[in-house]
Order: sequence, then structure tokens, then C-alpha cells
Amino acid sequence: MKIRSVGVIGAGVMGIGVAQNLAETGHHVILLDLTEDRLENARKAIRQNMRMRGFFKKGKEPSEPADMVLTRISTTRDYAQLGAVDFVIENVVEKWGVKQEVYGLLDSACPEQCVFAANTSAISITQIGSATRRPQRVLGMHFMNPVPLKAMVEVIRGHHTSDETLEQAKGLLAAMGKECIVVNDMPGFVSNRVLMLTINEAIFLVQDQVASPEDVDRIFKSCFGHKMGPLETGDLIGLDTILYSLEVLYESYNDTKYRPSPLLKKMVHAGLHGRKSGRGFYNYETSV
Ligand code: NAD
Repeated sequence: MKIRSVGVIGAGVMGIGVAQNLAETGHHVILLDLTEDRLENARKAIRQNMRMRGFFKKGKEPSEPADMVLTRISTTRDYAQLGAVDFVIENVVEKWGVKQEVYGLLDSACPEQCVFAANTSAISITQIGSATRRPQRVLGMHFMNPVPLKAMVEVIRGHHTSDETLEQAKGLLAAMGKECIVVNDMPGFVSNRVLMLTINEAIFLVQDQVASPEDVDRIFKSCFGHKMGPLETGDLIGLDTILYSLEVLYESYNDTKYRPSPLLKKMVHAGLHGRKSGRGFYNYETSV
């Protein structure tokens, strides 16, 4: 089945990237969030992302003007608008209570055959499936940030995910220009069971005054050849999302190794969420 119309739930960092990537590859998108402000910001961000990419990424310039791409994205706050979508990609905040409510609403609003892909950082896909009456049509699609520029997606098969659902998801990803690696379901999957611990420990290093954020990151870049250090990565992902993901891991495994650093909590409470808020371990307020 060719997927034409996709519901994208949540218009934050990830929902914006997913909606843009889908629209740039010819899909019709219904982008849903709680407020008109978030939706208006999403349209602005897509325009801005496309302009910046044209400037900075040789060979990755948009093939169509942003205005054309945006004609394929409609925005709404109303779940009833999802009555005819073929596929949903959910990107709401990383909190189980919020996702649980959203999946209940999606289950009632979307066609029976519609597949739900959770772009979650850490929440078990089997648990998400349990919030619906279609767990066989629920899977994880863990996109990387920024979505339009990242070719690989970690796909997670929940306990009840069917082969047909997996095939449909692979087909959609291929149509979005992506490849995928399929893994089994446990909270945090492969990527974030490792990455969240690394970022958290890097934050403990700063908290313990072992090194400055710049020096922690330089060690990873200069010694290990990583493109970005763990604190730069934390700022890119969003420090609020890092905290919520660690809380999910801590609760899921009941293992103290996932306890979030007090410095991370303090920064999130202070509104220092990283790039998206203009400040995290680094200052982005003056950057283009
Ligand atoms: P974000 O905070 O930037 O955006 C979350 C969006 O969800 C906000 O726009 C918010 O208004 C919306 N939202 C909250 N409750 C909602 C509801 N009930 N209905 C509709 N929309 C609602 O977060 P993000 O970074 O885009 O993360 C979204 C999801 O993607 C999370 O589960 C996160 O763990 C996951 N994820 C994030 C990254 C990353 O690098 N940031 C990477 C992969 C996966």
C-alpha cells in the first residue's frame, strides 16, 4: 500500500523535522499540536531550515521552494482531522502520561488500518501499544536529529508488532530517503540506553568540576574522533528531553545507574534546555 497521507503529532524539534522530510518527499502531512503558536512556529522553522540548508549544505539544497513544500502540510489542533490518514508518526513530549492520552485519542480518531509509529527516545513500544486497541500496528521509529539530514532510523519492533506493519514502515522510510536498523523492544532500545548514560555522566563531570563543558566535549572530539561531544549532543537533543528520557529509563529498569544528575535537573528547571531555548551548556542566542 502506498502511503500518501501522514499524521504527524507534536510540532516540536522532531515533529517539525519529520513533517518537513515527509513533505519534501511528496507526502501530504497533517501536523497536530496543542496550540496555534506551536503550529505557526513550525511553519516558520521549516522555512528557515530549508533556507539554511541551501546556504550551508552543498548537494543538499532543497529541490523545491519552501512555499511549495509547505502546501503539502496542513496544521490542526483537532484529532478529528486524522480520520483519513494512512500512517501516524507521533513526536509529543517524552512523558508516559502524555503519550498514553495521545494514543487513546489517536486510536479513536484514525482509521483501523492506520499504523502508529512512536518517535520516542526511551519509552517501551510494547507499553505504547498497550494504550491502543491495535498493538500489532504500533512500532517505534526513532529518528535522529535533524531529521531531514539524517539517513538512518532505529526501528523498534514491539512485542505485538506484525510483519506487515514493519514492512509498511520500511516502505515509508524508503520513500522518505531513509534506511533503517530494526531492533527488539526494551526501554531506550540500543541508541539511548547507551547515549543517555554517556550524556548524563558527562553532566556529572561538569557538576563535579572535573572539566569544563568545552573540555569534556573536546576530549570526545579530539581523542575519539566523534563529530560532536556529549554536551553538545545534549544541547542539540534538548536537555528537557534528556531528563525525561533518563527518568523513563530509571523507572523502567529500577536501576540507579539511570539517576539523572542534579545539575541536569537544575538546568531544566532554570529553562536552560539547549539549542531550542537559546542556552544550555553553550549559548546559542547570538548564533545564526
Ligand atoms: P519538543 O519538546 O521539542 O516537542 C514536543 C511537542 O509536543 C511540543 O510542541 C508540545 O507542544 C507537543 N505536545 C505536548 N503534548 C501534546 C499533546 N497532548 N498533543 C499534541 N502535542 C503535544 O520535543 P522533541 O525533541 O520534538 O521530542 C519529541 C519526541 O521525540 C519525544 O518523545 C522525544 O523523546 C523524541 N525524540 C527526540 C529527539 C531529539 O533529538 N530531540 C530525537 C529522537 C526522538
